[in-house]
Amino acid sequence: MTPESVGRSVARDRHPPPAPTGEARRYVNQWVEDEAVGRERVRAFVLILKTRGCYWADLKGCSMCGYSKDTLGRSATREELSEQLERALARYRDEPYVKVYTSGSFLDDREVDAESRTAIVSAFSGRARRFLFETLPEFVRPEVVRPLREAFAGDLEVALGLESTDPTVLARFVNKGSSPSEYLSAADRLRGLGAHPKAYLLLKPPYLTEAEAVADVVRSVGEAAPHFDTMSINPVHIQNGTVVEWLYHRGRYRPPWLWSLVDAMRAGAARRGDARLVSFPTAGGLSRGPHNCGTCDARVLAAIEEASLSQEFGPLESLDCSCREEWRATLDYAPLGVDA
Ligand code: SF4
Repeated sequence: MTPESVGRSVARDRHPPPAPTGEARRYVNQWVEDEAVGRERVRAFVLILKTRGCYWADLKGCSMCGYSKDTLGRSATREELSEQLERALARYRDEPYVKVYTSGSFLDDREVDAESRTAIVSAFSGRARRFLFETLPEFVRPEVVRPLREAFAGDLEVALGLESTDPTVLARFVNKGSSPSEYLSAADRLRGLGAHPKAYLLLKPPYLTEAEAVADVVRSVGEAAPHFDTMSINPVHIQNGTVVEWLYHRGRYRPPWLWSLVDAMRAGAARRGDARLVSFPTAGGLSRGPHNCGTCDARVLAAIEEASLSQEFGPLESLDCSCREEWRATLDYAPLGVDA
């Protein structure tokens, strides 16, 4: 019998059993955060809906993604999605930017059916100026996107988790099911349909050195720039039930240094063309997230957020701390691979 890969066994263990109706009537989470539309700073309303989640996560999943813990283990009914929306709308205060995530693909009918999709987008039309959702590239089809474009009187922004434009990094280290070129052509299709494509790029997939990880994301910024309006560098943080967590517990993975993110932002800024380059790290400064020595983390994170909102990257040049030398010394440490 062929031994099960780490990726498949981790995917099997994290898959939730089918949820009862009560659980499906509540969304996963909702909060408000700082964002920018163009150069204007605005508040953004963020909503995570509870759906069946990403089909790829069930098959194998990406090495850093543990979002399936927030899913139902079955498709949500139209009524359940409608109830989640009503609960969220009760908390909505006309924030100009709305982001709706599903722990998967908003455009996958198994997660959100077509009627519910239109209802969700329409609910914010005339109240928000920009509406964002995320999807895998295979679901970007004109007949799916067009009704949403028509249902929302404002900018429709569609995020694609491209992660890296290097086919080997994407397929073998991140474990994505589609190639970089499929993501780039989905972004082009979105533009053709009048939507604004946004790329999520991953900083430090497993099995890369710190230096290789910075080089990978900077090259990805340059190669993705012509296809996207916005690119967000997302440093890996350790999520439960992932291959990255499996490696982390065995001392084989350290989340990226914030200095690596600063370097990637500075070098990426020069290659971003007309696209916006942003980064709003999750778990920044924590041991399971991107971090430095602990002394400078808050200051460095604040500078990264300010650069993301203002698109002024010059102030990142003057950041410093004694731990910068330690970071430099670790840049070329060999990554410890997985032999399972
Ligand atoms: S990162 Fe995206 S594509 Fe990969 S498993 Fe998670 S939700 Fe699915």
